[in-house]
Amino acid sequence: MPSTKKNTKPDKKRAVRKPPAQPIKRKAPAKPTARKRSAPIKPAPLKASVKPKVLKPQAISVVKTAQALVVKSETSLMKVPAQAEKTAPDAKPESAAYQPEIIEPKWQKAWDQAGLYRAVIDRSRKKFYALTMLPYSSGDLHIGHWYAMTPSDARARFMRMRGWNVMFPVGFDAFGLPAENAAIKRGIHPKKWTYSNIDHMRGQLRAMGSMWDWEREAVSCDPEYYRWTQWFFIQLFKHGLAYKKLSPVDWCPNCNTTLAREQVWGDDRHCERCETPVIKKNLDQWFFRITKYAEELLDFAGIDWPERVRTLQTNWIGRSAGARVSFRTEADDPLEVFTTRPDTLWGATFMVLAPEHPLVETLTTPERKAEVAAYVQQALRQSDIQRESADKEKTGVFTGGFAVNPVNGVRIPVWIADYVVITYGTGAIMAVPAHDRRDFDFALKYGLPILPVINRTDGLTKSFALAKTMKPGLAEALRAEAIPFEEREGSLCITIPAEKIDRYIEIARARLQPGCWNEIVGTRWQFIFDDGVCDWDSIDSEQEILARCQELEPNVRGKRSLMEMVWSLEFYRDALFHDQNGEMIHSGEFSGTPGAAAVKKVAEWLTVRNAGGPTVSYRLRDWLISRQRFWGAPIPLVRCPVHGQVPVPEDQLPILLPDDVEWKPTGESPLKLHPTWARAKCPVCGGEAERETDTMDTFMCSSWYHLRYLSPKNDRAAFDPAEYDYWMPVDCYTGGIEHATMHLIYTRFFHKACRDMGITRGPEPMLQLRNQGIILGEDSEKMSKSRGNVIAPDVLVKKFGADTVRAYLMFFARWDQGAPWSSTGIEGTHRWINRIWGLAANAPKHTSAPADEHAARTLTRATHQTIRRVTRDFERFEFNTIISGLMEFTNTLYKYRETSLYGSPEWEQAIDSLLLLAAPVAVHMTEELWRRRKGPQAESVHRQAWPVYDPALAAEDEVTIVIQVNGKVRERLKLPAGIGKEEACTLALANEGVKKWLEGKTPRQVIFVPDKLINLVL
Ligand SMILES: [Zn+2]
Ligand SMILES: [Zn+2]
Repeated sequence: MPSTKKNTKPDKKRAVRKPPAQPIKRKAPAKPTARKRSAPIKPAPLKASVKPKVLKPQAISVVKTAQALVVKSETSLMKVPAQAEKTAPDAKPESAAYQPEIIEPKWQKAWDQAGLYRAVIDRSRKKFYALTMLPYSSGDLHIGHWYAMTPSDARARFMRMRGWNVMFPVGFDAFGLPAENAAIKRGIHPKKWTYSNIDHMRGQLRAMGSMWDWEREAVSCDPEYYRWTQWFFIQLFKHGLAYKKLSPVDWCPNCNTTLAREQVWGDDRHCERCETPVIKKNLDQWFFRITKYAEELLDFAGIDWPERVRTLQTNWIGRSAGARVSFRTEADDPLEVFTTRPDTLWGATFMVLAPEHPLVETLTTPERKAEVAAYVQQALRQSDIQRESADKEKTGVFTGGFAVNPVNGVRIPVWIADYVVITYGTGAIMAVPAHDRRDFDFALKYGLPILPVINRTDGLTKSFALAKTMKPGLAEALRAEAIPFEEREGSLCITIPAEKIDRYIEIARARLQPGCWNEIVGTRWQFIFDDGVCDWDSIDSEQEILARCQELEPNVRGKRSLMEMVWSLEFYRDALFHDQNGEMIHSGEFSGTPGAAAVKKVAEWLTVRNAGGPTVSYRLRDWLISRQRFWGAPIPLVRCPVHGQVPVPEDQLPILLPDDVEWKPTGESPLKLHPTWARAKCPVCGGEAERETDTMDTFMCSSWYHLRYLSPKNDRAAFDPAEYDYWMPVDCYTGGIEHATMHLIYTRFFHKACRDMGITRGPEPMLQLRNQGIILGEDSEKMSKSRGNVIAPDVLVKKFGADTVRAYLMFFARWDQGAPWSSTGIEGTHRWINRIWGLAANAPKHTSAPADEHAARTLTRATHQTIRRVTRDFERFEFNTIISGLMEFTNTLYKYRETSLYGSPEWEQAIDSLLLLAAPVAVHMTEELWRRRKGPQAESVHRQAWPVYDPALAAEDEVTIVIQVNGKVRERLKLPAGIGKEEACTLALANEGVKKWLEGKTPRQVIFVPDKLINLVL
């Protein structure tokens, strides 16, 4: 691997210049192993001069105790390069026992000092930008962070050993509400709280042993960071991608403040602090125009992102093609709606507006004012999610106003209902109850007319012939016509085949009792009266038919619509509603238009009629970026009475958050309460102006952190273009699927917007994405403090060492799926780690058992097969099988450990391979063992090339070949791998198990798939 070779030189220099790592006063390890024999690790084949290592004076004083010196001189029997005395990375006695508490901090420090993980541009090498989602500065790294980060780290290390120049940075998402809550609770400034959290978390992150490049650390609440967050805001503003508009926020009328989403509690949505039900209030707020990119965000070409994330984003963006339709109110106000089904326009029997819709006031008639106002109030208290929820009972009120349907001039009532939200589409819908489930339920509930205008595609047609309404002989007639029916208490439930509907009408008419009727529903909507057949084909005819039925039958006089009347018959229900794309009916000149062409044809016709036209609508809304909070990046604009919104000149950035603020539990941002902070001069005229007191959503900070990692200390630009050219785009991004619809859309939008502003390049910021699953508590429940099932990684590291925690997190579940934690499981993994240690650090007691050629071959094969398997599994992020593969290999090694194979070249290669393959997982232990094996001057195991397998050596000696006779599996034979057709056939034909299926015949044809299959065709 050329890359590691290249790397060795400068680093050796660095290592040589480095002063001894050990301070003189350092104590010897707590338990220097005083075991009598600590076996030499590489006995026989060593030719290098075996001489005791000369320790530097200081180093000797470090290892003063007699035992320590013994250990030292023993282990120095390893291959020691000539200048060993110059610098040992860490002069300390080597223990025969596995002591993670000693080796882990030792290597973390040594790597840090050697700059082992610094990512530096090297244009001669291919780069790999490995990114894992940055943690929020909560103050505590939990097991979920470990689960996300350590396999990501292992994967990055794998890529590095495979020759890539890998960058793996880390930072902190450090703005946000919890810091403010802590400030109110404890009276400390959020800054102080946040930075002390970060300090603690840095220590926790170091304990992972991950290959973080700390020189690239970025913290989003650093003024050097948010200066550029503000700069990006200004660029978006200048390009028309940031704008201000009135938008509802949750507002506590008692506390007189806006509330964040997480401060609104319970189903009744009350204020977290005072329990008053919250209301929605319109505030002037900032938005990013993400909807401009809706279409492009649906395109995932060229990026390798999980199907699940792509689906979540696609649904979130929610593209639907349809039409705009301009209705008009009776006062001639335009009332525009969006519909995906313009072909159902003739079936629009009422309209529904969102309660916030601006026309509600003018439409509402005086006598309905009070009821409408009360309804609007309760609707405003709910969230959009609650309002749109599918299982919520639909409610609404009539405004008293009417609108005119542009396709047929029909006057239809206008209602308001909370299931229509102002932020989607136009905040108004045309209701087509016959073909929209929600509208259907609503219309039935409120007795509004329902008119079918699309034919069913399944042809289901029904009629119910009530006993007393028909003359005798109907059943016989139907039977004679082969029209199926079922008799229930003298009445007939008839399902009419499509081609017999006309015939049925004749039969029914002939047998109708005077003063009665019979109806057909499904694909025909007709009422048969004794004087003729009436079509239910318009709102008017619906009313006429209903009136006639009510006149004839007192029982149906309470029904408000014809549909309500037929709906009361259970037998009809499956034939009354559908939302299929069938042929248009009851639609004037469009009746008969086939379903496939209907949407397009009507949409185009609307354009011609100047009543709308084809359009595409998205569920995605513009990104509300304003927060009425303190602990966030201030929005860098001032409002001048003359010049309006003016961006702060870029050389005046950052607009700093003030330190001298008072924390009052008012819920109001201290920026608003600060006596002077908001005062500013207008950059244009120098007159008095007012600073924006809203801060930015923290998702803005995390939309570009991967760019700040490129050059976190750069004070001339958000990032250094040379670093961008080399490292971007991110090659592999890892993190939780819960970010599928927010962060992962925002960062794609941000990149595309920056590309269009000439700041970034290329279509996407992150080429590959992989998500981890969730670790549950040992009780299979979500981890939570209240359940007491939280697993604390720090405790585990103390008990087992970081390497065990890392390995277990990779092993216990499929990474993308997660699983419940298991404390016995981690102990098993810990035993495995100890077994590797035992293999490589200590010699066996006996090595006398003979091992033959075959054993050597088997061991070599196991080595190469393990390399093949682990390599493949790393490529696929299948971490659990990496560990199980290494566990199996460890077992194989133990099998040969006490044989004469021990110490042979095959043995040494196997141990080296095991350490190299385990290096990305057990990062500290493998480093310790590697250096012990190779000598203190050896290069780090993490700078070694990934082992390469030899397919010939990995090949099995024997393969199982399936024998088929006439295509049926009859036998399985173990044969030498690579066996030829002729030889294999001879052996197969001679096999007793095969013979009995041949019945003495000679096969006509033999199909042979090498190493897999023989099919004997008789
Ligand atoms: Zn309150
Ligand atoms: Zn001005």
